[in-house]
This record gives sequence, C-alpha cells and structure tokens, in this order.
Amino acid sequence: MQSFSYHKPGTVTDAASLLAARDNAALLAGGMTLLPTMKQRLAAPDDIIDLAAIRELSGITMEGEDLVIGAMTRHADVAGSDLVKEVLPALAGLASRIGDQQVRHRGTIGGSISNNDPAADYPAAILALNATIVTSQRAIAADDFFVGLFETALRPGEIVTAIRFPRAKRAAYAKFPNPASRYAIAGVFVAQTGGAVRVAVTGAAPFVFRATDVEAALSANYAVEALERLSIDTQDLMSDIHADREYRGHLVMVMARRAVAESLKRSG
Ligand SMILES: Cc1cc2nc3c(=O)[nH]c(=O)nc-3n(C[C@H](O)[C@H](O)[C@H](O)COP(=O)(O)OP(=O)(O)OC[C@H]3O[C@@H](n4cnc5c(N)ncnc54)[C@H](O)[C@@H]3O)c2cc1C
Repeated sequence: MQSFSYHKPGTVTDAASLLAARDNAALLAGGMTLLPTMKQRLAAPDDIIDLAAIRELSGITMEGEDLVIGAMTRHADVAGSDLVKEVLPALAGLASRIGDQQVRHRGTIGGSISNNDPAADYPAAILALNATIVTSQRAIAADDFFVGLFETALRPGEIVTAIRFPRAKRAAYAKFPNPASRYAIAGVFVAQTGGAVRVAVTGAAPFVFRATDVEAALSANYAVEALERLSIDTQDLMSDIHADREYRGHLVMVMARRAVAESLKRSG
C-alpha cells in the first residue's frame, strides 16, 4: 500500500504554498489519470493536494469577448453549459464526446491539459482556438503550452487556474475515437477567427500539432473542396496496434474535411 498525506486547501494561494513546500507532491483534479497511474505504481507522490474545495477554480463565465472556463470545471459541465453552447458550440460538442459518462463527470479541463495526453481532445481545441492558459503565475499562449509527449510549459509548483477562449467565426471538431477508451485515434479541430484559420490535430502523433498545410489551404479557400487533393506528411505520426501512421494520416484528412463541413453549418 502506498502512503501519502492528503491536503484539501480552500484557495489557489494555499494550494500553491503547499506545493512549493513539498518535494514530491501531486495536484489532484478529477483523478481520472492520477489515480490509475498511482495504482500502476507509475506515480508515487508523498503528498496529494486536492483542488476540489477551491471554488474559484470552477465555473464558466464571459470576460469581455472571451469565454473563461475554470480549471476544475468538469467535462460534463462544459458539455451541458448553455453559455458554451451559445458562444463556442464546437467546444461543448467536443466535451460531450470525451470518454464515457463517468469520466465526463469526474475529469476536468485543467487536469486534461496539464496531463497533455497525446490523444486528449481539449488540447486540439485550445491550440486551434488560440486560447490562453491562465496559471497561478502567468498567462501562457496555446502555441507555447503543449511542449511534447505528456509535457507542458508548466513549471514546478505552477497551477492551471483557467482557460480563456476567444470567440470564433466558425469552428468544429471531428474525431475518430478508439472504440474502447474513446480517446482520439485522430481528432481535428478547425477554427476560423477573423481572417485566420487554425487547425490542430490530436491522437495522430506523440503530441498535439498544428496542420499548417491544411491551414494554408483553408486560408486561401475555406471550403471542403480545398482539402480534396491534400494529404499530410505522415513521417512524424504514430503507429501502434490501433492504427499505423499511413492510416492515421488518412484519418486526419477525413476528419479535417468533416470538421470544415460541420463548421460551415453554423458559427462557433
Ligand atoms: C477510461 C477513460 C477514458 C478517457 N477518454 C478520454 C477521451 O476520450 N478524451 C480525452 O480527452 N480524455 C479522456 N480521458 C481523460 C480524462 O478525460 C481526464 O481529462 C484526464 O484523465 C485528466 O483529468 P483529471 O481532471 O482527471 O486530472 P487528474 O487525473 O486529477 O490529474 C492529471 C494530472 O494533471 C495534474 N493537474 C490536475 N489539475 C491541475 C491543475 N489545475 N494545474 C496543474 N496541474 C494539474 C495532476 O497533478 C496530474 O499530474 C479518459 C480517461 C479515462 C480514465
């Protein structure tokens, strides 16, 4: 049995102080990743700092033109929010397709992006929508946040407090899920904000990435036909028991076309 000390601070300041004072502590959000990794002995923190009692970390609000989602907001709350459905329906749709009901009612947006699983859904939305990650120390642009496989720009002791999403003119997410876990084998989020088009891909490579060739084609002509003869470079894509890199590359383009078609039906 693993022994650890359990802490339940009531503010971000207290959580950050606890974290700073301990060498081997872990933040607990929904526990959907942390607890299985502890059970598998892949993580063995001496201290667990549960964020559940910090009210300021939960909730969905508008700040000016930005949609702001607190780090401890559960996937089910994003999926069911009337505000998210009105301002960024593509994001509500994405959240409604994460995992299963149990995962959606425990998992949080902050936990998801801090973990940065290469097949997670939110990182694609955050990168394509050019969102900003707000932490206990600073604001980090999406392009700087997702550094590599399970790796982010978060420093030791830094806590994600919220994600700030700008409005999009058009946006949509299409995913080809693993039928068991529902994680993306390939997922593509397409967003048009003003004149710029950003396209982010999850599940296909060891890290979420922007598909710049797809962005260029859609910037010239925002239409499904613009992608018809386009393919993506598969060299850096993953091959595993679920799909090889060529198949993932094919799926990325199919998902990109589906996302564009979906985005043209509605705004945001
Ligand atoms: C069966 C199953 C299916 C799933 N399917 C999908 C899927 O289809 N799509 C998908 O995207 N995800 C999927 N997930 C992942 C899930 O949705 C969660 O997002 C993910 O497990 C992490 O979120 P959490 O809130 O549970 O974080 P936790 O497990 O509590 O924490 C994860 C990591 O992030 C750190 N952390 C947590 N919160 C913060 C914070 N605010 N600041 C800094 N660090 C923090 C923790 O210390 C830990 O290292 C699945 C998970 C399971 C178990």
